[in-house]
Amino acid sequence: MRILFWLGLLVLIILALKKKMQPPRAGSGSSGYPGNSADSENAGSRNTESAETMVCCAHCQIYLPASEAVQRGEQVYCSKEHADLA
Ligand SMILES: [Zn+2]
Repeated sequence: MRILFWLGLLVLIILALKKKMQPPRAGSGSSGYPGNSADSENAGSRNTESAETMVCCAHCQIYLPASEAVQRGEQVYCSKEHADLA
């Protein structure tokens, strides 16, 4: 009778461990935890990209990130060439 108690306890411990392991995977979808972490990394980089200010070239009206723009006075340009042309 005593071994049944220990067997039951062992099963309970295994179930508890399984439950502890599963929530992150189950919570993040069936594809698994690693995929989800990659998704959140992508979302983070997407957020930083979309957070960057987009500026319009005063010469060709193309939109580009402000960090890549060339500024001349109050106008911004997509390249040095367009800045020199204007
Ligand atoms: Zn341009």
